[in-house]
Amino acid sequence: MEVDLESVRHALTERLDELRRSTDSTADSRKPVELDQASVGRLSRMDAMQMQAMAQATERLRSQQIVRVQAALKRIDDGDYGYCVACGEEIEPKRLAVDPTVPTCFDCASASRR
Ligand SMILES: [Zn+2]
Repeated sequence: MEVDLESVRHALTERLDELRRSTDSTADSRKPVELDQASVGRLSRMDAMQMQAMAQATERLRSQQIVRVQAALKRIDDGDYGYCVACGEEIEPKRLAVDPTVPTCFDCASASRR
């Protein structure tokens, strides 16, 4: 395999730190919206609720990414990194270059989308 595991591990660890930091720094934006009509008008309250919904959706994506990064780091530790979790074949290096957390080869990924 042509992949430099240590640099991948390094990049993934940094990515994980970054994701966790964003989770912490955006915690406030996901808090329940104040339903105090006196302090916020109806429109801005709807804005606030929309912002909160977006923040929550972003956070859901972020936690999925965290899971993917953690799984990739575990595959490095287990010596399985770079091999498809479905069929065991090597994952195309180009695929890993685009997304180092990708768990399956092109064929398996396309098969699961069908
Ligand atoms: Zn596969």
